[in-house]
Amino acid sequence: MAARRILQLGDPLLRAVSKAVDGGAGNVLADLRDTLHEFQRTHGFGRGISAVQIGELSRVVYIEIHGKSYSLVNPRFTSMSAETFELWDDCFSFPELLVRVRRSMTVGLKYVDEAGEPRSLEASGAFSELLQHELDHLDGILAIDRAIDQNSLCTREEWLRQGLNASTRTFPQH
Ligand SMILES: [Zn+2]
Repeated sequence: MAARRILQLGDPLLRAVSKAVDGGAGNVLADLRDTLHEFQRTHGFGRGISAVQIGELSRVVYIEIHGKSYSLVNPRFTSMSAETFELWDDCFSFPELLVRVRRSMTVGLKYVDEAGEPRSLEASGAFSELLQHELDHLDGILAIDRAIDQNSLCTREEWLRQGLNASTRTFPQH
């Protein structure tokens, strides 16, 4: 297993709809974990990655948040709250760009874990928006598609210069 190259914005594969996994996803999950750790080492942040980002069109997501890791195979939302919040979002596939998006405050999720067991979870706040970002990838949707308005795109350099990372209710950095 190894860290893999992360597809960058403009690669048409990022726009593809990933296929449901029928069987084991261990190899993809191991590569996602290694790739996330490599990104964390080189960028100093990173919490989640979808299989399509390493060129695998499988509905698989790997997440590390709040000291826990989650291997999500065939994840799907069972609920999304009408209550929303706004945040500056980013993505491994365009790490120098921040996008202001609106996400549901809480979500419910069903998925299959690494061992093939069906599971469910509920998430709110940072975990909720992270799940919405990563599941969007499985349908070829990118954070830039969710930009709230024409003032919702910002380079990381400008975002830091303006101190937007210190504004309230932001959960940046996937
Ligand atoms: Zn992303």
